[in-house]
Amino acid sequence: MLAAPATLIRPALLADGLGGEARPNLEVLVRDGRIAGVGPRLDCPPGTQIIDLVGACLTPGLIDGHTHLGLCGDGRPYAEMFAESDEMMVLIGAHNLQLHRDAGITTLREHGARNKVGFVLKEGVRRGLIPGPRMQVSGRPITCTGGHFHMCNEVADGEAQIRRSVRRLIHEGADYIKIMASGGGTAGTLPGLASYTTAELSAAVHEAHYFHRLTAAHCRATDSMRRAVEAGIDLMEHAEFLDPDGQLRFDPELASMMAECGIWISPTLQAWTRYGRMVELRGLQAPTPAEAEELHQLETRAELRLDLLRRLLDYKGMRERLVPGTDSGAGAIAFGHLDYDLQLLHQTGLSPAQTLESATRISAAAIGAERELGTIEVGKIADLAAFDGDPTRQVSAFSRVVAVFQEGVRVR
Ligand SMILES: [Zn+2]
Repeated sequence: MLAAPATLIRPALLADGLGGEARPNLEVLVRDGRIAGVGPRLDCPPGTQIIDLVGACLTPGLIDGHTHLGLCGDGRPYAEMFAESDEMMVLIGAHNLQLHRDAGITTLREHGARNKVGFVLKEGVRRGLIPGPRMQVSGRPITCTGGHFHMCNEVADGEAQIRRSVRRLIHEGADYIKIMASGGGTAGTLPGLASYTTAELSAAVHEAHYFHRLTAAHCRATDSMRRAVEAGIDLMEHAEFLDPDGQLRFDPELASMMAECGIWISPTLQAWTRYGRMVELRGLQAPTPAEAEELHQLETRAELRLDLLRRLLDYKGMRERLVPGTDSGAGAIAFGHLDYDLQLLHQTGLSPAQTLESATRISAAAIGAERELGTIEVGKIADLAAFDGDPTRQVSAFSRVVAVFQEGVRVR
């Protein structure tokens, strides 16, 4: 049997995801889809294909822990987006997968779609029918009657129904379980109130863990955050500290509970701050007074949320538990922009190098994939990205993708 030829990647700089700034004069040898060597002037077998990435920094492929592939993120209300057929959602998803992969994202979590849409997209990528990042799918998010994303069709009330939903999803192929612990953007739901009791969330966690699956909970309400911690949820989405009166109020007692239990936190800052719109407004050559005012209001509002996160990051160990997530597909969040979340994490006090770690090594651990993904180390899967410039010094470099590799094959 002929061995597949090896590939040698020679970037100007390499940031391995293990921390610190990028270093020069390092090469990466890839064989059979995995990293076979990292170092200066590696010995290569004859016939090795050489890829020179002049002026670029090679990093592990980025991980986005929060996407909704079946939605197009064009700003329409959910009621309109969910008027699409499942078949159209699969096509939208196939398009979105490519946008994300071209942005250097080689792994993503599909965080809630209707019916079989998430499962079908994962199978399509696995069979090579459509290009796309490596995927973990939740299938459908579990939600209460009338709750956030109830239109995905996995409604469960009470511990017994929740256990049944977890079992159903796992047997359909769910890689992890997503549960809506508070209301959200779905019309009629109440973002400031918890939607499940601690006992109900615990039932989901116990059942999922029995099948060796991790759990993620959508938690906007402060009460839902507390219940998620009490129930042992693995990853908390949004973590807004939202009170029933619609105000954000930092809760130091809850923050120390979060830090102590070691829950993963995905603050989805791009989504909350409407950062895409801010970028658009900042890019205008001659903004009208109305546009200038809109930008000012968005920036002022964003500071509220960034300040909360700055306070949370003061707690010991929090930087090691924080992961970016775009929430792409929801609202006006277009696919292809994990860079926006990294810019926002940088604004909360993470160094550029720490933002890279959060999107690679730490995210891999948060989704249970740290043995295979997240760093450039011998033995790991060669999912890689390269950027023009040095993202460990300037976060703006994350917006300039020059190459993407999946299992060592250059796909961009
Ligand atoms: Zn979401």
